Amino acid sequence: MAHSFLETVQKHLQIAADVVQLPRHVADILAHPKNEIIVNFPVRMDDGSMRIFTGYRIQHNNIRGPYKGGIRYHQDVNLDDVKALAALMTWKCSLMDIPFGGAKGGVKVNPHLHSKDELMRITRRFTHALGSNIGPDYDIPAPDVGTNAQVMVWMMDTYMNRSDDLTKNAQRGIVTGKTINAGGSQGREQATGQGVAFCVREWARMKGIVLSGKRAIIQGFGNVGSYAAKFLDQLGVRVVAVGDHTGYLRNERGFDVAKLFNHARQFGSLAGFQEGDPISRDEFFQTKADIFIPAALENQITSKEAEWLEVQCVVEGANGPTSPDGDTVLTAKKIDVIPDILANAGGVTVSYFEWIQNKRSEFWDLEEVEQKLEKKMVKAYAKVMEYSKRKGISNRIAAYAIALENLKVAYEERGIFP
Ligand code: GLU
Repeated sequence: MAHSFLETVQKHLQIAADVVQLPRHVADILAHPKNEIIVNFPVRMDDGSMRIFTGYRIQHNNIRGPYKGGIRYHQDVNLDDVKALAALMTWKCSLMDIPFGGAKGGVKVNPHLHSKDELMRITRRFTHALGSNIGPDYDIPAPDVGTNAQVMVWMMDTYMNRSDDLTKNAQRGIVTGKTINAGGSQGREQATGQGVAFCVREWARMKGIVLSGKRAIIQGFGNVGSYAAKFLDQLGVRVVAVGDHTGYLRNERGFDVAKLFNHARQFGSLAGFQEGDPISRDEFFQTKADIFIPAALENQITSKEAEWLEVQCVVEGANGPTSPDGDTVLTAKKIDVIPDILANAGGVTVSYFEWIQNKRSEFWDLEEVEQKLEKKMVKAYAKVMEYSKRKGISNRIAAYAIALENLKVAYEERGIFP
């Protein structure tokens, strides 16, 4: 049966809630976001006309710390998907043991159809519309699909201009994933892809697999997919098929990843890259490989794609890329799944480091950030594998369960007000 993304996340919550014997009222609290903010705001287009946009910010939970999560710009952004993504942020931060809750936001807009100036005005007007619903100790946005460091700097600047001169600088941590100049962290841009690669490395290490010469296919070549490719390449893995919203490419010998990376950076997509054969989406999923990194959107691996996949492991760079039917098939085929809230947690982990640096007016060097990230990823990876083995459950439910254990303790200790 086809499930919506939100239904899928809620179903996983129920299953994991049973595993940790989550009190009923806590499960009920976590089944709904705390706040749902919807804003409609006008923006002047380059031709002088005016358009109304709809934006969302869903604040799922903040018992463990400020709401935290990305802002997505995509034409399909809708309330239910943002709710699902916000809940995933709560689990992710809890699993990683970082003192944040979960949130997600988005604007229903195709960023590829707007000029830089229009995107700036959309961003500023959206931030203005959110007003005091966000704050550096309350709810901290970050990049997600369709947004980047530049968008974060516009958000920061708009938000800072709400404050008087004396308190302006204390607002810098309103967003993470900023440019370095604006107070961003070294290593934030690469962090999600790097975290994915740490998971691949740990997976291989625990299974006794030599990564050098192994084959990977990557769906999505934005921030996550492109950096995952770069770090896998460094591990000696051959990237043999890639794809993004403009199409799919295969190169049996393995792509020159540096070239591919630079092309995607320069032109904003894979379109026009010459050193590969164009293939269909179906052919992409049928490409024999060892590792599959979904790094695009949710619900990409349904039972159909899962039947096609000929890989040993799926490392979820994207949020929610596997449908429940897809999961069932992957399990039946004994394909290892490294679930999203673990595999792509590198991004929010370095967001946390950025937030700390902003608070302390510090700048850590890349080496320090990478070491700290590695430590967190390796620890969380080991925890999930140990838990799933001990309980005889899937890695996904194990990751959810660990996250819920932490939330359970928080609710037990604090109780329900009043
Ligand atoms: N959007 C990213 C995610 O889904 C990063 C969130 C953040 O850094 O706050 O995890």
